[in-house]
Amino acid sequence: AEKAGHNTYEIISPTANVETYKLFSLRNELRHAFHNDQFLVYYQPIMHAETNEIDAVEALVRWNHPIWGIVLPNEFIPLAEESGLIIEIGEWVLKTACKKLRSWHDAGYMVKASVNLSLIQFSQIDLIDIITSTLQENDLDPKWLTLEITETAMLEQKEKVLKKIAQIRALGIQISLDDFGAGFASFKNLKDIKPDILKIDKSLVKDIPSEQDSTEIVASIIQLAHRLSIQVVAEGIETKEQKELLLKLECERMQGYLFSKPVSEENIEKVLERTINT
Ligand code: C2E
Ligand code: CA
Ligand code: CA
Ligand code: CA
Repeated sequence: AEKAGHNTYEIISPTANVETYKLFSLRNELRHAFHNDQFLVYYQPIMHAETNEIDAVEALVRWNHPIWGIVLPNEFIPLAEESGLIIEIGEWVLKTACKKLRSWHDAGYMVKASVNLSLIQFSQIDLIDIITSTLQENDLDPKWLTLEITETAMLEQKEKVLKKIAQIRALGIQISLDDFGAGFASFKNLKDIKPDILKIDKSLVKDIPSEQDSTEIVASIIQLAHRLSIQVVAEGIETKEQKELLLKLECERMQGYLFSKPVSEENIEKVLERTINT
């Protein structure tokens, strides 16, 4: 809107119009699209910093839209959470990733899979049963699965969520606290969740090593995590300089475009092949 106030009209820019229309269209089509196989899972490697081997791959959902092309999750996950469809989508991503993990293990690529979990999924009564049966159906030891949760997901119904997280960890599945350092970082949450892994948010990684303050913050987070026996993954690594600094700071795992973008299931198999057979 470029003009408001006493006028009774607003001038809406053409691009704002397209965005509004897109949002409207995505919201309307989401459920139908999901049930008509327009969703895909992409995978991005998480590297062992020292050996440059792939430790895990993170499953990242995509919507392959007939008109808009590949739609990114930031555009439709909020819509899916709004409508509750995220419960079905989340379950499908978990099942798809575990099925792939089985086939990678069968081919000799012994990596882990990391799957994002939305707060809304914690209200699913049979969440734990679904996770357990998915692992069983694919004959996977729970140690191969990591579930990523975000701190913002902790604001509501904290006790209930903490109880389920404890149950998940008791199964032998690893819990990763995602987006640490963005938004509502709280040491209390860190203590309450007791994650196995902490993921430093890319908004902090972006400014290292050039910004002294960000560098100090990242260094402190790594130290803090290690003192609590929590492993660290840094995300959003795009440059060699970032990698070098994080190595010096003893960050053990790294994820970012420097290593690989999130890629389709066909392409991640090529990445696995290249990395593991050399
Ligand atoms: P996230 O879990 O923090 O995932 C990391 C995001 O950073 C991904 O965006 C990834 O493509 C991007 N990224 C990776 N390396 C780099 C880098 O070097 N530079 C930059 N600038 N970005 C990088 P993506 O795939 O668009 O996903 C966005 C968010 O959507 C995810 O953030 C996650 O919160 C959510 N999401 C994705 N898949 C799922 C899912 O299956 N379920 C749920 N609940 N949320 C999901
Ligand atoms: Ca994540
Ligand atoms: Ca993240
Ligand atoms: Ca995020």
